[in-house]
Amino acid sequence: MRKNILIAIDGPSGAGKSTLAKAIAEKLDIMHLDTGALFRALGYAALVKGFDTRNSEQAAELVNLVKLDIEFEGKDQKVLINGEDVTPYIRTEDVSIAASNISVHPIIRDYILSQERQLAERESFILDGRDIGTVVLPNADVKIFLTASPQVRAERRLQDLIRAGDQNAKYEQVLQDIETRDSQDSNRQTAPTRMADDAVLIDSSNLTIEETVAKVLALVDQS
Ligand code: C5P
Repeated sequence: MRKNILIAIDGPSGAGKSTLAKAIAEKLDIMHLDTGALFRALGYAALVKGFDTRNSEQAAELVNLVKLDIEFEGKDQKVLINGEDVTPYIRTEDVSIAASNISVHPIIRDYILSQERQLAERESFILDGRDIGTVVLPNADVKIFLTASPQVRAERRLQDLIRAGDQNAKYEQVLQDIETRDSQDSNRQTAPTRMADDAVLIDSSNLTIEETVAKVLALVDQS
């Protein structure tokens, strides 16, 4: 029996990290943690409280006021704020922006980091996010940096929003939000989006999900 395996998938918004991670988790029968959902849950909690997500003092207050829990039903991940399942509310554009804003504060990142590491200690996991290979799991067995052009990512994100019932979503607006988040996530001081030195770069612009999955499975086999 091989030891627990840890796989890190990082990359910018809309590159398809979660879809890829879900597919790999299914194939290898391991758990998947979508770490963006944790930042989204705290971003959502801040919006509900009317907090300014850019203000570091309010971020510190938020960490004192709310308890974030992660639960799994089978392989389905849920995020809870003070015991309430907020998973259905965290995929809107407003929450995307709030998550990106709030994720710059070290106090928020430290709070989430400890939860991520506790989970990954327990069993085999695939984590997707921005700083998994660089900060959260620097010793991961396989590290992938998944990217795609901003236009491809905006188109995919637009389709997700429409599928989720947002008929007003517009390509230009989604592209602009993606570019804003890319810039904010890559330029922040703490744990910016960065490819780990030992990660493998996969550009999924012209790959199907099946082709991308096959590439990652080959890397897992070699690890
Ligand atoms: O991946 P997703 O788009 O759901 O992430 C939402 C936001 O959470 C990102 O724009 C980023 O600011 C933040 N995030 C992060 N570190 C992670 C995962 C997400 O800073 N590991």
